[in-house]
Amino acid sequence: MAGLFDLFGRTSGGTTAGGGAKTEAARGPVAAPASGEMPAGVLAGIMQDVQLSIPSILDHAALYHGDREIVTRTIEGPIHRTTYSDIHLRARKVSQALRRLGAKPGARVATLAWNTYRHLEAWYGIIGMGGVCHTINPRLFHDQIVYISNHAENPYIFTDVTFVPLLEQVAPHLTHLKGIIVLTDRAHMPASSLKNLICYEELIGAEDGRFDWVRLPETAAAGLCYTSGTTGNPKGVLYSHRSNILMMLAAGVGDGMPLRSRDSVLAVVPMFHANSWGLVYSAPANGAKLVLPGMRLDGPSVYELLTGEKVTMTAAVPTVWLMLLQHLEANGLDLPVLERVVIGGSAVPRRILEAFEDRYGVEVIHAWGMTETSPIGTLCVLRHDQIDLPREEQVRVKLKQGRPIFPVELKIVDDADKELPRDGRAFGRLMIRGPFIAKGYFKGEGGVPLDAAGYFDTGDVATIDPKGFMQITDRAKDVIKSGGEWISSIEIENIAVGHPKVAEAAVIGLFHPKWDERPLLIIVPKPGESVTKEEILAFLEGKIAKWWMPDDVVFIEEMPHTATGKIQKMALREQFKDYVLPTAK
Ligand code: AMP
Repeated sequence: MAGLFDLFGRTSGGTTAGGGAKTEAARGPVAAPASGEMPAGVLAGIMQDVQLSIPSILDHAALYHGDREIVTRTIEGPIHRTTYSDIHLRARKVSQALRRLGAKPGARVATLAWNTYRHLEAWYGIIGMGGVCHTINPRLFHDQIVYISNHAENPYIFTDVTFVPLLEQVAPHLTHLKGIIVLTDRAHMPASSLKNLICYEELIGAEDGRFDWVRLPETAAAGLCYTSGTTGNPKGVLYSHRSNILMMLAAGVGDGMPLRSRDSVLAVVPMFHANSWGLVYSAPANGAKLVLPGMRLDGPSVYELLTGEKVTMTAAVPTVWLMLLQHLEANGLDLPVLERVVIGGSAVPRRILEAFEDRYGVEVIHAWGMTETSPIGTLCVLRHDQIDLPREEQVRVKLKQGRPIFPVELKIVDDADKELPRDGRAFGRLMIRGPFIAKGYFKGEGGVPLDAAGYFDTGDVATIDPKGFMQITDRAKDVIKSGGEWISSIEIENIAVGHPKVAEAAVIGLFHPKWDERPLLIIVPKPGESVTKEEILAFLEGKIAKWWMPDDVVFIEEMPHTATGKIQKMALREQFKDYVLPTAK
């Protein structure tokens, strides 16, 4: 390895065990990416310029996997079964219908819907007619939905019957809205005060499906998803055909979240949250059976689909898996068919990892990403030289967020933007670069979020170890600065939720006259359990550095969550802003 770098006249300072511990000095200066323009004297390759196109995924699925099933727990109740052939036909009917309604290529047509086959058809139908599929998170506050929909200028919104009451409240404020298409049949159309409700089945029932997808350059926008906007207004991340397909291919490699035609995949992660981590693309592209849970994400409902549909791979945030694991434990159930579970959105707590892997024999793949990264940035799969490690060491690796999927590049930097060593100890702002990472936001909101070398600032704080495994220690705004040193709130939280009586834990920094900030640990006990501060502190003892020990532990009944299921630290800081730590008195 060192020899190879020597070829380029660089030193390999900082290299350790894994051969991958390169600081900026070892890797050479980080150049800005090439522009795509051909310099004079350089030959262009003589290969086809076929443009990557999202609807072609469905063409492929219909041609090679036409009879493969898509199973939905419908909003109306019963389980519904269809095939990629049928989805292909009905998606083209959606395109035709949107055209008939006057939607033009480039239109941002919204969906405000659960994961169902009709949502999937609408998704491909919108993109297939040259539009941009704009997924709206129904868990957002009403005024955020109004802001987002107006900002995107949605002419139409596809929605489920369950969200009609929500739309009755917000629709009067939607300035560009022409119609709301309810994803159901005539028999289930709700009575509503809304005048412009359209029945989905009637709308597409009037079409024959003879529609050629609109062909666009691969850089054309295809998807739009707004960040949750904890500070200021939500900002729109505008995906292209190219970025979404490249993300799917990059995440589909062996050490990623690959799918095979023999797989049955349960997409618990919502389609409205960053492309359901690519499953809406990778399942049809690989001919995997796709299982869509509708609105029921509780333990028993998820378990029923996992077993009934012989699911081999699934993906969701930790909260969903906590509900499932509780259900399994309470009822003495097993997961004999499930092979892999992808977990991301928040850090995987040790107890979830150990339950899946050690108790149920299901491999956990820890994923990190964000709306701006399409969303997969890193996946945690053991390297060749970690397969035979003692279990405890493997667990410590698997709790990290993992290695970037090629061709994503990562680095960590300090406050002066200087790259920090990849030693697993130094932590700094996590920066990311790649062909499916956002370079800005829709309509230029928020300016240019890139550094001089084209890296996007994730707002996360992380370490990168010598073998390339990245570990998030905090959001930059949540980091606790005690006496000039940083304390990782995530690490303390992860250990605290390992206590058998703890349901959820959050750590925030509170003012301290000597140390600037000290950690306060906030706990929600499991239902029916009571636990003391002393028990919690004794549990943490020896698992974290002494100076990381929280100065106090408080108990609350309910944790505030964001629309994407993350603990809302801002709300906690507000709630405890007048709280004085016993050490600060
Ligand atoms: P969103 O754009 O809503 O998907 O949120 C992205 C943010 O979620 C990231 O910047 C991280 O702060 C957090 N996040 C996502 N995955 C993980 C993970 N595996 N561990 C810790 N934090 C995560």
